[in-house]
Amino acid sequence: MATIWIKHADVITLNEHGTLLHDADILIEGTRIKTIGTVPPDTQADEIINAAGYVALPGFFNAHCHAPMTFERGWAEDLPFPRWLNEKIWVAESALTPDDVYWGAALAACEMIRSGTVGFNDHYFHMNRVAEVVEQSGLKAMLAWCTFGIGDDKEIGPGADAQIAFSREWQNAAEGRIHTCLGPHSPYVCPPEFLKKIVELAGQYDMAIHLHVAESSEQVENSQQRHGQTPVEQLNTLGVFEHRTIAAHSLALTPTDCAILAEKGVFITRTPITYMKLAMPIRTLISELRAAGITRIALGSDGPASNADMDMLAVVRQTVLLEKYLRVDPEALPGDTALRMATQTGAQALGFNESGVLAEGRTADLILVNFNQPHLRPRHDLVANLVHSAKGADVTHVISDGKLLMRDRILLTLDEKRILDEAERRAFRMVNQNMNQVREYQA
Ligand SMILES: [Zn+2]
Repeated sequence: MATIWIKHADVITLNEHGTLLHDADILIEGTRIKTIGTVPPDTQADEIINAAGYVALPGFFNAHCHAPMTFERGWAEDLPFPRWLNEKIWVAESALTPDDVYWGAALAACEMIRSGTVGFNDHYFHMNRVAEVVEQSGLKAMLAWCTFGIGDDKEIGPGADAQIAFSREWQNAAEGRIHTCLGPHSPYVCPPEFLKKIVELAGQYDMAIHLHVAESSEQVENSQQRHGQTPVEQLNTLGVFEHRTIAAHSLALTPTDCAILAEKGVFITRTPITYMKLAMPIRTLISELRAAGITRIALGSDGPASNADMDMLAVVRQTVLLEKYLRVDPEALPGDTALRMATQTGAQALGFNESGVLAEGRTADLILVNFNQPHLRPRHDLVANLVHSAKGADVTHVISDGKLLMRDRILLTLDEKRILDEAERRAFRMVNQNMNQVREYQA
């Protein structure tokens, strides 16, 4: 079994007591953490990392994203949401090929590893190609093939049966690093009969469900008019929440919605940078969710077309700042809570329950951050420095399942140079090709 010995690190364990360790060692054996604290000096290890002045913490789990949307980074700027979606994103995506999805996800994987993410919850198309990237990169993921359920003539991607075929083929692949789940787009796109079918399949194959929920007051009003229920009430009636559910966004909730989500243990993922960038109002703040008894709140980057990066340290920082600012309360969301949302709650949402805490016997999914830099001194408070001063580029080492994916900022599992060039070439081609189609159509 391969062993890694990390020496002299400061450790943010994120255990239940919030234990911090100074000048501690971590010994990793195989996929697990064997020892934290003092490692016997005669220990033999395959790799020794001198981490003096570095902080070790659990790796990030990005709990809602569309990784291949790296292709649209910076291509749909400063537009209102309907124009952003209809004139740019869907136009570009209609030219997307399975190979594009592979290279877009590979670009995202480089970026995620470089900024300390070990696992991501992806919701997109051609997900067998994203699964290949997960397999090669050493990352972990929960993958959902997004489906609309609106009929063969309008459908993008497969129907429910093809979705199941993908999910069953890839469930627990890559030594268990790949989890799959069902990905109906949302209750505002998918008809109720289709959602019912998804619920049946989730029961039959014991699968989680990842979808977009209540992104705006308008969606809530439309749902009330059409179905006589809020989106959360409707999903509850349909039985969606009887399965592990990740409800992305959930920005406009009633007190009844909150009570349902708390009782059913639904995971909510917030992606604050998208809300600010696309100017989407947050009707129900994180503190209100917590006050209503919702404990499973995770964080994500969303797609790089609306963020426009996948740096979870930026997400953590913006989550905390936004909550304090909108509540006009500096105590609204402590840094330690936001870090747990971005690591252990995300890991649980994706079904990696042994990750998200640095403790003996737990899965070795961890990162090192170099605090030997001016913006990270003095070290009065390691968590505060991490949340409010650190950047993704300060991450030096990333370990997933006990395997190094990045050492001293060099990626070890992916050919980064080739991915940068190939992804950009294809992204340029995708938008040009498609803008030509739009011109032809208009002519
Ligand atoms: Zn999304």
